[in-house]
Amino acid sequence: MELARKVMQIQPSATLKISATAKQMMADGVDVINLGIGEPDYQTPDNIKQAAIDSIQNGQASFYTPATGLPELKQAISQRIMADHQHHYDLDQIVVTDGAKMALFTLFQVILNPNDEVLLPVPYWVSYSEQIKLAGGTPVEVGTDRQLRFTVADLEAQRTPKTKALVLNSPQNPSGLVYSRAELTAIVGWAESHAILVIADEIYEKLMYNGNQFTSVLELEGIDLDHVVLINGVSKAYSMTGWRIGYAAGPKAVMAKMGVVLGHAASNPAAVSQYAAIEAFGGDQTSVETMRQGFEARLNELYPLIASLPGFKLPAGKPAGAFYLFPDITEALRLTGYQDATAFVTAVLLEAHVGLVPGEAFGLPGHLRLSYATDMTSLREAHRRLQQFMTQKIAEQAN
Ligand code: PMP
Ligand code: GLU
Repeated sequence: MELARKVMQIQPSATLKISATAKQMMADGVDVINLGIGEPDYQTPDNIKQAAIDSIQNGQASFYTPATGLPELKQAISQRIMADHQHHYDLDQIVVTDGAKMALFTLFQVILNPNDEVLLPVPYWVSYSEQIKLAGGTPVEVGTDRQLRFTVADLEAQRTPKTKALVLNSPQNPSGLVYSRAELTAIVGWAESHAILVIADEIYEKLMYNGNQFTSVLELEGIDLDHVVLINGVSKAYSMTGWRIGYAAGPKAVMAKMGVVLGHAASNPAAVSQYAAIEAFGGDQTSVETMRQGFEARLNELYPLIASLPGFKLPAGKPAGAFYLFPDITEALRLTGYQDATAFVTAVLLEAHVGLVPGEAFGLPGHLRLSYATDMTSLREAHRRLQQFMTQKIAEQAN
């Protein structure tokens, strides 16, 4: 049977694929340390779990909810945004989805006509490009400097009459870099002046380290938010990847059409997860800070270890946010003789039993991504294995 052409050009999610391989190796008895998936290792906080249990026991979780989410959840989201960023969204400007991934997927379906272009600064999270293609659009890569930052000049170099939107992900997956208020003002102002929609994916906003400050696009002065869609969710801040709750917030007309699509595609996100998310956004926020501190300690210990591996370079320095390191391994490839990052991380997984993601998956060859959202003992052991792998391969290459 001939399958749809649009799916033939889509690559599987590299992050999910590597994780599945690592999990299979573990099931086969291999001691793998999986740093391939961006998923907090913490348990969902107890107050959130309890809210879910209550919603099951009192019968609320048994039924469909409105397609775009429970009004109480939208209210909790609106209040959280107001508390954090002093911006008001009406409830009909918020759409709750099965994870932020589904918010992005639905948004691209709603805004893109065939061959519309979406600017995607490199490196970018794996699913943006494939979701854009599935919606009939064209992802257009935007170059960055060695520090992996892009500027308005980089955007302008790729702008055409078909440019419809820009994906702006800060803190960024896979590099952990965070854009400053001044940079964001320039970027979002540029987009606005060309009527380009800014898709601001702020899912890592709570994960900022070592005194670095996060600025939301909602806080920029003189910016018309009619050209901005905010994407966020509970996965990272509240350690709730498995619950699948995310949201989009933005112009009413766009949100209304997302609701129509979601009504046909998903009916609604699982009710029990929505009740949990009400507690996540509206309840005690102490656990967010506790988990953030845990990530910060890991970053501070791991960063110098990874930066000192032979041939690993982090020209942008210690990342300010998220929970990834994205070293340039061009020199490591030369030292070990692997032809690209994919071959390198495959060998590391099979021989050193550490799961990583190659830069190719993020549009930037010669790099790899490592997630430090796991315990420090495993991170130290992963570093030891990488060090040993490098020493051995460099010796073999020299012979
Ligand atoms: N955006 C970015 C940048 C991410 O890293 C992720 C993590 N998978 C998502 C969106 C989607 O997260 P989720 O679907 O779990 O809410
Ligand atoms: N955002 C995470 C990652 O980049 C989760 C996996 C995914 O959805 O791609 O690894």
